[in-house]
Amino acid sequence: MNAEIPHIPVLTKETISYLTLKKGMAILDCTVGMGGHAKEILKEIGDTGRLVGIDMDEEVLRAAKAAIGEAAGNFKLFHSNYKDLNLVLKAAGVEELDGALFDLGVSSFQLLSAERGFSVKTEGPLDMRMNKQEPLKASDIINRYSKYELIDIFKKYGDEYFAGRITEKIIKAREKGKIATTGQLAGIVENALPYKYRFRRIHPATKVFMALRIAVNNEMENFETGLSKVVPFLKKRARLCVISFHSIEDRAVKNAFKELERLGIFKIITKKPVQPGEEEIMNNPRARSAKLRAAERM
Ligand code: SAH
Repeated sequence: MNAEIPHIPVLTKETISYLTLKKGMAILDCTVGMGGHAKEILKEIGDTGRLVGIDMDEEVLRAAKAAIGEAAGNFKLFHSNYKDLNLVLKAAGVEELDGALFDLGVSSFQLLSAERGFSVKTEGPLDMRMNKQEPLKASDIINRYSKYELIDIFKKYGDEYFAGRITEKIIKAREKGKIATTGQLAGIVENALPYKYRFRRIHPATKVFMALRIAVNNEMENFETGLSKVVPFLKKRARLCVISFHSIEDRAVKNAFKELERLGIFKIITKKPVQPGEEEIMNNPRARSAKLRAAERM
């Protein structure tokens, strides 16, 4: 992986402000990535604070360590899935949290590393695993799943209107030989779409790639589990911040927050999601669709 690839954190000022950080707080960063948010959190909580960072991508974690280092004692990084955050916190010796952050999705670091297979724009193996210890790759889904399973994935995780047409083309193509690369899949999807859809600013296979990534990494289930597991660790008045990048993620966050508010567990702080201003979007196109939601533990 290319360590020169920058990852610009999204909605950083807003996230820091909604976490209402103070010196000495204990914070969990469930998706530490390149440590963009972590670095800012550390500044606010100071030497007396504690930050636990989790990422399920070993390469990302290595790069984060190189970028910020593990400050003696008060910053600990774990290669783990946030669905197991209870175990991570136990290992870190942290019993209570003053705040937690989920910054969902992939980092630019992963997206721009061709060999990881996340990008629709660069040729690479159809992999998409954030955690290379997991057995299921995107190519397994594309080459082995039934027609109905594929349609379901493209619709459910990609809101892909042409899921049926695309799946038919995939099935035809894989009868001739294995679909092994991002380029092959991108080409098949492109050809499955009506002609006029092929000339958009966003690549026509973007939604299919996103849907596959969510399926490969079990992203929706992980988030649901992670969210339910973090709740018991949050102190009264502790803040929870979640940043999402597309409507499918944001819907899940919004509904989960509503349910937790209905149960009297959280108070929603952001009635509407917080979105980046024009300046941030200009400096970081990835921020375009970002939405931050914050809630406070009751
Ligand atoms: N906030 C980070 C960027 C996070 S990008 C920064 O400022 O640099 C999202 C990260 O979450 C990716 O590195 C990805 O590997 C990680 N991730 C996604 N799902 C995860 C999960 N279930 N458990 C742990 N890490 C996860």
